[in-house]
Formats: sequence, C-alpha cells, structure tokens
Amino acid sequence: MDVLGTGGGAATTPDAVGELICSAKGCRAEAAWGLLWNNPRLHTPERRKVWLACDDHREHLERFLSARSFWKRTVPAGELDRQEPA
Ligand SMILES: [Zn+2]
Repeated sequence: MDVLGTGGGAATTPDAVGELICSAKGCRAEAAWGLLWNNPRLHTPERRKVWLACDDHREHLERFLSARSFWKRTVPAGELDRQEPA
C-alpha cells in the first residue's frame, strides 16, 4: 500500500513491535510513539528500526537518535506493525 503516493521510491519497512512498552531505560510506561531510525553503518537504507516511547521519553529518545543522525521520524504507536504473540 502506497498511502503517501511516493511512487517508485524505496519503500521503508519499520520493524514490527511487540508489547507497546517505552524503550527508555527503566521505564515500563505504555508507549504512545514509535521512533523510526536507521544506522547506515548497520542497516540498509530502507530499513527502519523502531524504538517505542511514552510521552515523557519521546523527546529524550529523539534527541539521542538525532545526535547520531539516526532519527528519521516519529509516528503514533498505533500505526506500527505488531508482532504476532509468541
Ligand atoms: Zn518512558
């Protein structure tokens, strides 16, 4: 599905996520956001790793990724693909 109408551009493929729990260290809050990022040294350009963040940690985690030029964009957690429960 090409909801953005980007045509022939490389489609990005965010990793599916499991439980919607904030990725910040020590935080077990429900995640409201998915931070999509890519480390070009480790990942192909269209790959999107996903960090989950609650409202409190979204900005902190975005800043962490932005400082390394890894951050791509942030989407509502509800838009992320979910892993099948094991
Ligand atoms: Zn958090």
